[in-house]
Amino acid sequence: MKPTVLVTGGAGFLGSHLCDRLIAAGNDVLCVDNFYTGNRDNIRHLLGHPSFELMRHDVMLPLYVQVDQIYNLACAASPVHYQTDPVGTTKTSVMGAINMLGLAKRQQARVLQASTSEVYGDPRQHPQREDYWGHVNPIGVRACYDEGKRCAETLFFDYHRQSAVDIRIIRIFNTYGPRLQMHDGRAVGNFILQALRGEPLTIYGDGSQTRSFCYVDDLIEGMVRTMDQNDAVGPVNLGNPVECTILELAETVLELTGSKSELVYNPLPFDDPVRRQPDISLARKLLDWSPQVELKDGLRETIAYFKTLL
Ligand code: NAD
Ligand code: UDP
Ligand code: UDP
Repeated sequence: MKPTVLVTGGAGFLGSHLCDRLIAAGNDVLCVDNFYTGNRDNIRHLLGHPSFELMRHDVMLPLYVQVDQIYNLACAASPVHYQTDPVGTTKTSVMGAINMLGLAKRQQARVLQASTSEVYGDPRQHPQREDYWGHVNPIGVRACYDEGKRCAETLFFDYHRQSAVDIRIIRIFNTYGPRLQMHDGRAVGNFILQALRGEPLTIYGDGSQTRSFCYVDDLIEGMVRTMDQNDAVGPVNLGNPVECTILELAETVLELTGSKSELVYNPLPFDDPVRRQPDISLARKLLDWSPQVELKDGLRETIAYFKTLL
C-alpha cells in the first residue's frame, strides 16, 4: 500500500511543490487548503492524477481522515497577508497545530510542522542557531505570525512529551521560486514584478537589512529529508546561509531582467528584522543537506515563471 501523506496548505507556494515531490516519489497525497492565499493554479496539473486528492478545508476545524504522514504548512506566510487577518493567523497556527497533532495522535502518524525563522524575531544572535530562543515583540504587528508559530512549536513538543506523538519541526528561512505569489508583497516577488513592468523597485528602509534566500527545490529536499530521518525531531533550520542585503537583491533582479527601473526608498515596516541568516550546521550533519542552487540561477527560474503570468 502506498503511504498517504496529508499536506495542509498544499495549494500554496511551498505546499504545491511538496505535493509534486511526494507524488513523484510514489505517495498518495491528500492536499488540504482553504485557499486563503493558495491558488488552484498551483496544483491544477495534479487535479485528476490518481494519487492526488484535493480537499477544501480550514485547519482551524477538526479533520478526521486516514493518513500515514502529515506536513502542516497551512498558514499565510507573507506579512501583507498574515497581517490582514491577524486573529485568523494566530488561530490557524495554534488551532491548526492542535488539530493536526490530534489527528497524528489518533492515526499514529508522523507530523512535521513548517515553522519559521520568525521565531527568532529580530535576532540578537547571528547567524541564528536552533538553540537561540529569539527576540520577538509579543504585541507588535508581526506577533500574530511569530507568536502563533512559537506556540505551535510548544504544542508540538508538548504532544511529543505528553502523548508520544512522532513530530518533526523545521524552521524555514526566506524561500523563493516559481509559484511565489505575485502580489503577496514579499521582496523577491515585488522586485521581479516591478522590474518586468518597468516600475520603480520599492526598497523599504535603506536596503541594508539582510536576508538569506533559499531556492524552493533546495528547501523541499531538506523538508522531506527531515521528515524521513529517525535521528532527531528538530527543530532544524532550513535555509540558504548566503546572506545578502535587500539592495543587493534589487540590483541582482535589475541585472537579470535587464530592466531600467529605478530604485525608490520607502519607510521600513515596523519590527522589520535587521539581519537574518541561518546556521545550518545541524541540517548539514543530520540530513547531509545544504542548498545547491545559487541566487542568480534561482532568480532566473523565478523570473521566467513570472514572465509566463504577465
Ligand atoms: P503560502 O501563503 O503560499 O501558502 C500557505 C497555504 O496555506 C495557502 O495555500 C493558504 O491558502 C493555506 N492556508 C492558510 N490558512 C489556512 C487554513 N486556516 N486552513 C487551510 N489552509 C490554510 O505560503 P508559503 O510560502 O507556501 O508557506 C508555507 C508554510 O511555510 C507556511 O506555514 C509558512 O509559515 C512557512 N514558511 C514559509 C517561508 C517562505 O519563505 N516561503 C518561510 C518561513 C516559513
Ligand atoms: N482532532 C482531529 N482529528 C482527529 C483527532 C483529533 O481533528 O483525528 C482534533 C480534535 O478537534 C481535538 C484536537 O484534534 O480536539 C486535539 O486532539 P486531542 O486528542 O489532543 O484532544 P481532545 O480530543 O482530548 O480534545
Ligand atoms: N522589502 C523591500 N521591498 C519590498 C518588499 C520587501 O525592501 O517591496 C524588504 C522587507 O522590508 C524586508 C525584506 O525585504 O526587510 C524581506 O521582506 P519579505 O516580506 O520578503 O520577507 P520577511 O520580512 O518576512 O523576511
